[in-house]
Amino acid sequence: MGYISGKILLEHAAKNHYAVGAFSVHNAETAKAVLAAAQKENAPVILMIGQKVIQYMGLKPMKEIVDSLAKDVDVPICVHLDHSRTFEQNVQAIHAGFQSVMFDGSQLPYEENVELTRSIAKIAHSLNMGMEGEIGKIGGTEDDITVEEKDAMLTTAEEALQFSEDSEVDYLAVSIGTAHGVYKVEPKLNFKRLQEITRVVKKPIVLHGGSGVPDEQIQQVILGGVAKVNVDTELRQAFTEGLREALAASPKEIHPANYLTGAMKKMEEKTREKIRLFGSAGMAKFFLT
Ligand SMILES: [Zn+2]
Repeated sequence: MGYISGKILLEHAAKNHYAVGAFSVHNAETAKAVLAAAQKENAPVILMIGQKVIQYMGLKPMKEIVDSLAKDVDVPICVHLDHSRTFEQNVQAIHAGFQSVMFDGSQLPYEENVELTRSIAKIAHSLNMGMEGEIGKIGGTEDDITVEEKDAMLTTAEEALQFSEDSEVDYLAVSIGTAHGVYKVEPKLNFKRLQEITRVVKKPIVLHGGSGVPDEQIQQVILGGVAKVNVDTELRQAFTEGLREALAASPKEIHPANYLTGAMKKMEEKTREKIRLFGSAGMAKFFLT
């Protein structure tokens, strides 16, 4: 079915109360696993290319791997640049044909975040691509922060509205209590804060740090306006677990095709589970690409 703008994808999701899974991919095997999961669930899907894979594989090579694998898949697909901190890298992704980009200026002073996000949004929009911005800090689970500090990191409705208007983003990543990585204690998302934000910001909301959040909380935030849920950690855990099992079962195995198949299978299963949880299974038919 081919590529589709992140903006079209997420506006449909927000309007119809489901979320599109945004899954991080790191090589050909993980990209293939996510695409196979989306195909089997007939779901629109976002493949995220993040900073780590860009460092070791390169932005363009990774995009080209996805391109060649995506040709055989019959669901709407969006390739998204995750957590980019530079204008230049966003432009490189747009030039390489991504359907969605993200500028993460959440660490910058407000004015600077707005200015850079808006300048990228203008380029993305001229080519019908979607643009994600972030306001409020989404920390890591490894960060040693107190409850008060955590509360201070949450995005307020006022700053979300102001930023979404000033920056011209299509969808907005906000901080409502999630973090990146593996949670030490069960996260408690702030539904009230999400409600306050969606009451004023009439754009799809993005949830980062979706791994390890209990299913009921995920379903609740999707009903509350979250249209894109990012999942990375849980998929890497599944892939690595599959790899370890395969190697343990056949310690003498030296063919990547044999031991990586188990890893891909585990990751595909976990991705399918997430797609069903997000309510995007069967939604591919609503898109013409
Ligand atoms: Zn993130």
